[in-house]
Amino acid sequence: MPEQTPRRSIESWAQELPVSFVECRTMGHRWQPHTATWDREARAYHVIHACDRCDTHRKAWWTRNGAVTSAGYDYPEGYLTKDVGYIDADGRGVLRTEYLARLFGTPARAEGDRGGAAQS
Ligand SMILES: [Zn+2]
Repeated sequence: MPEQTPRRSIESWAQELPVSFVECRTMGHRWQPHTATWDREARAYHVIHACDRCDTHRKAWWTRNGAVTSAGYDYPEGYLTKDVGYIDADGRGVLRTEYLARLFGTPARAEGDRGGAAQS
């Protein structure tokens, strides 16, 4: 189906993300050292880190001296935005709001709640 997907709001996109994706997009990935293997042909180490929360893989080539000559990411299905475009500062705010909503199980909206008992 080659029809163009309509652009969606970041809010509706964020609400459908798995919680692990919301956490990684809010706080960054939780990299676990994974593997580093010497590649004789490339004369460099192929270093792969995996996020144990969302399963993104970061693959890079490190020289003996520690220089990174190339790096890339493999994202799990659904991690990358398809139709909401670039996540700017406002978009990251939406993701943090979604994070709080998941954390507290309620819409994390400022209610202007004036709770508390006044004296006398
Ligand atoms: Zn992650």
